[in-house]
Amino acid sequence: MAMVTVEERYEHLEKTIRGYNISADLGQIRAAYEYARECHGSQMRRDGTPYITHPIHVAQIVAEMRLDSESIIAALLHDCIEDTDSSYEDIARMFSPTIADIVDGVTKLTRVKYTTMEEEQMENLRKMLFAMSKDIRVILIKIADRLHNMRTMEYQTPAKQKKKAFETMEIYAPIAHRLGLARMKWELEDLSLKYLDPVAFGEIEKTLAAVTAEHSRFMTEIQEEITSRLADMKIVEPTVYGRVKHPYSIYRKMYLQEKTIDELYDLFAFRVLVNSVSDCYNVLGVIHDIYKPILGRFKDYIATPKPNMYQSLHTTVIGDDGIPFEVQIRTFEMHAIAEYGVAAHWKYKRGLHGEHNEGAYEWIRRLLENQEDTDAEEFIHSLKIDLFADEVFVFTPRGDVVNLPVGSTPIDFAYSIHSVIGNTMAGARVNGRIVGFDYQLNTGDIVEINTSKSARGPSRDWIKLAKSSEARSKIRQWFKRERREENVAQGRAAFESELKHAGLTMSQVTESGVLPGILKQSGFQVLDDMYAAIGYGGYTAIKAVNRIRSEIRQQSRAAAIEKAVQAAAAAKETQAGKPVLPKKVKSEKGIVVEGLSNCLVKFSKCCTPVPGDEIAGFITRGYGVSVHRRDCPNADPERRSPAEQGRWIKVSWSDDLRETYSTALEVVCKDRNNLLVDVSTALSTCKVSVTGLNSHATADGFAIFHITISVTDSVQLEQVMRKIHQISGVMKVNRPAG
Ligand code: MN
Repeated sequence: MAMVTVEERYEHLEKTIRGYNISADLGQIRAAYEYARECHGSQMRRDGTPYITHPIHVAQIVAEMRLDSESIIAALLHDCIEDTDSSYEDIARMFSPTIADIVDGVTKLTRVKYTTMEEEQMENLRKMLFAMSKDIRVILIKIADRLHNMRTMEYQTPAKQKKKAFETMEIYAPIAHRLGLARMKWELEDLSLKYLDPVAFGEIEKTLAAVTAEHSRFMTEIQEEITSRLADMKIVEPTVYGRVKHPYSIYRKMYLQEKTIDELYDLFAFRVLVNSVSDCYNVLGVIHDIYKPILGRFKDYIATPKPNMYQSLHTTVIGDDGIPFEVQIRTFEMHAIAEYGVAAHWKYKRGLHGEHNEGAYEWIRRLLENQEDTDAEEFIHSLKIDLFADEVFVFTPRGDVVNLPVGSTPIDFAYSIHSVIGNTMAGARVNGRIVGFDYQLNTGDIVEINTSKSARGPSRDWIKLAKSSEARSKIRQWFKRERREENVAQGRAAFESELKHAGLTMSQVTESGVLPGILKQSGFQVLDDMYAAIGYGGYTAIKAVNRIRSEIRQQSRAAAIEKAVQAAAAAKETQAGKPVLPKKVKSEKGIVVEGLSNCLVKFSKCCTPVPGDEIAGFITRGYGVSVHRRDCPNADPERRSPAEQGRWIKVSWSDDLRETYSTALEVVCKDRNNLLVDVSTALSTCKVSVTGLNSHATADGFAIFHITISVTDSVQLEQVMRKIHQISGVMKVNRPAG
């Protein structure tokens, strides 16, 4: 390859931008390029090129998605905060706060560490989804960044190659797919496959090269044949081209159908692009006239688009020499959306909030809002289903289209219409025939649900038969409400067997006294509530037992410390009246405990104090000192029991404070659309990290949010509370206590 200078690469970028955006702000774009080049200075990439080539390449990919000037500038600057001395403020001042926000968002995603631990993986995905629901350009640039890194992965160590490839396959490719970025999705997948299964990848590439060489005449002939027939039909300026399919799509087929590459027949595909929808159907007629269509392989995604907005006609036909091939027919506009998805919809607007194409992000919001009753594994599972599965499209008897994950049953269909329909379902018909509840729906099926007032309601098996997370969570809701006793019994049985498995007895657990704390931590009032949750599937017995076991272990460790604390407290009492000698005390977690050093400190969960709050300490039995806010009802001097009076101890904030403190907020609002988006936007503009966000709607039209955030002190916390208060519909922002 000829050497290309950095400047030449930049000029190529500029040319690409001018090609689609005549009003692009080329002055600012050049300023961003020069600023980034200066920031990265003499940094080099592993392949020996100056670092600045990377942001230029990322901007090039972003320009190929035809994004706006702000996106190009942010792409050029995307590694400045992470890798150079440049700061958010610098970028905000020199370019704009919006651009600084985008760069900051990309930086945050870069810092997200990928892990295979499901619990953390969920948190990471949540962060990504939040970033997306705020400004979709953040994730578009991040995907472009990942794409360029994957393209240049050969210079990395094998371990890093595998890790990045796995992460790309698990997270970035599915997100690209869901956003309709087909072109980037397949490139990400092909590049990942290259490192995840190099042998298979090499073999597929070799075969494809051979097939392409062998069939190049066949490809040209088909192309010419179609082109000339379309000319006869007077179809205006069609574009016809052939291609072999992508390595990863072939790999998947080989894997799913357990075939070798020689046994796969549709390695070839042709595309016909035309000007209008009516031409699409005309072309389809012509294709079916020239070649013999394979039955059951025709799909009309124009009439029923995929949820990621993809539209096209697909058909598979057999050529003259018996070679089957697929033909995709679509308009130029549909093609742009097929290749660049949500990016193609992006309008070149300068303004930001409230101008998104709401429909395109609806799934992100739905995904986040459905998470209330699920634990980590379930979340990952449903996310994977929602991202990976191809959908089936079925019809109501009235002809409305309902899309469901592949493998869905009448149960999914019924619950997608309404939970009442699901809960009173007595039978189902598909295309007029009675079917069982386990019947797997196919695209095009007309589904009819018979309901009955005397129906017994869902059975537990339904949770297994249902494919969509929506149906499963609605069924669980029903059990939660209707079958408490049954749930409690089931949950207790599961819990006790798990306990036995862990080598613990119920009396050991009761004696240890850890249960009340664990119940409270998980939001249960009494033990039966936990059993009930296990029974309906909202909580797992394994999780409960694991917590209990680790608490008991910690307790025995803490007992030793408790002894020391008690001894010190006793020493303090005998000293009462005498002046206490000022000791040089070391703080623990930013807390100085009067007269004690090195003692175990924890922040109470009931009132979550942060620096700046007035605080009091309580010497617990076995857990060291628990710190409460002075205004917490649990720390109220009036309510302290006389027997425990001596356990209250003076504590104060030290000067060597930790970075951030976790604290809880409760927000009460009038429920409305987009509330969750507005709340999460407010939180991210405040630059606090959110570690928990739950919302539920009340029957009388209110929504209550429980938010856990990390802040440095009460000043920042008040700032956040003010910001949330400004959101329209918010009535109250509380710090819960007691
Ligand atoms: Mn980068």
